Amino acid sequence: MVKLYETVMAQFDQAADLMELDPEIRKILSYTTNEIVVNFPVVMDDGCIQMFTGYRVQHNNVLGPYKGGLRFHPQVDIDEVRALAAWMTWKTAIAGIPYGGAKGGIEMRPWDHSPAELEAITRRFTFALGANIGPEYDIPAPDVNTNPQIMAWILDTYLQMMPPLERNRATHVVTGKPVESGGSPGRYKATGQGLVDVLEVWAKDYGFALDGATYIIQGYGNVGSWAARLLEPLGPVLVGVEDHSGALLNPEGFDPDELAQYVDAEGRIQGYPAGAAVDHRTFFGTEADFFVPAALENQITAETAPWLNVRLVVEGANGPTDCDGDRILQERGILLIPDVLANAGGVIVSYFEWLQNKRSEFWDLEETDIRLKKQIVGAYHRVRDAVERYDCSWRTGAYIVALARLEQVYKERGIFP
Ligand code: GLU
Repeated sequence: MVKLYETVMAQFDQAADLMELDPEIRKILSYTTNEIVVNFPVVMDDGCIQMFTGYRVQHNNVLGPYKGGLRFHPQVDIDEVRALAAWMTWKTAIAGIPYGGAKGGIEMRPWDHSPAELEAITRRFTFALGANIGPEYDIPAPDVNTNPQIMAWILDTYLQMMPPLERNRATHVVTGKPVESGGSPGRYKATGQGLVDVLEVWAKDYGFALDGATYIIQGYGNVGSWAARLLEPLGPVLVGVEDHSGALLNPEGFDPDELAQYVDAEGRIQGYPAGAAVDHRTFFGTEADFFVPAALENQITAETAPWLNVRLVVEGANGPTDCDGDRILQERGILLIPDVLANAGGVIVSYFEWLQNKRSEFWDLEETDIRLKKQIVGAYHRVRDAVERYDCSWRTGAYIVALARLEQVYKERGIFP
């Protein structure tokens, strides 16, 4: 299996070659800055101790504080976190927000733990990270299998470690918090909202009719389910969905809200009555207008890319397409809107949450949604301009936007000493 960080570097090299990125800056951006690995003990409900391994990789902070989510998943390892951290650096640069890139997580099976154990694991991980995170330094957020509740525990633990005098100045140490604990309205759905905003403007520009279009989604968690719910009013029909429990097809179309309620209650799509169960291969081969991978990385590969029967892929997940997958999609004329643009809505609204906390402000949902749309459509236009100028794929165009911004800042500042 190709290492995920090698995928990032192959994508990076393609863009760096095409734009003729300064070779000195290329050296810097090929490395992560800090890699923190912590092993920590947690007392389980039965009184026994279990050891956990957690990671925080800080890729780059030349544009602002390190920023990126934390995931709880058995697949988390240093290679995955490195790759995800680098993608955050590109994503925040493309989005035009003053952040660098980081990512972290714990190698664990969250579904095997009670709420009390999850809380203890989260708090102990936050304690272990200590001063490696901070409101002006490195700001975590939700990702796979983490949520506002987990962010509230991180916040609370971090604040306990601070002198009382400073606690109210530090609520922006983490974003994606529950609204009552300083979160932003609209953050919860923001990644799906941003994906829909980008798809809508892309569809308009390229004459792709969304009303009546059919689509399939892989992953019905935060990103997938919100994308589906927010696409509903624009008229596309969700004809297939897959998650870790299996795949379902329904040519008549699923009701995205009802399916989301089912998944909230059951934790999986399996058993949802309004669809026929199919295997992975059949799901991938479903004839539809577009596909939204919104689960994990390495899903569209040399094996699966030839199966796809769609015109467009919109990446809700980070890294769902590997380099072979990318090449095959291009050869087959299947268009792709890349993760670092399509799923940037989450970190954009994280930035809004951070601003609100710093300024003791509270924006309403309408204001957040308007600002998100403006920010992500701005990013879309920057990427579209690069795609036209360099006559390249949207992934390479997106990288060029990010790398050009980072290159400019390095040149302005120089390298210490
Ligand atoms: N985990 C999300 C991502 O991959 C959001 C990160 C954030 O809000 O900092 O973009």
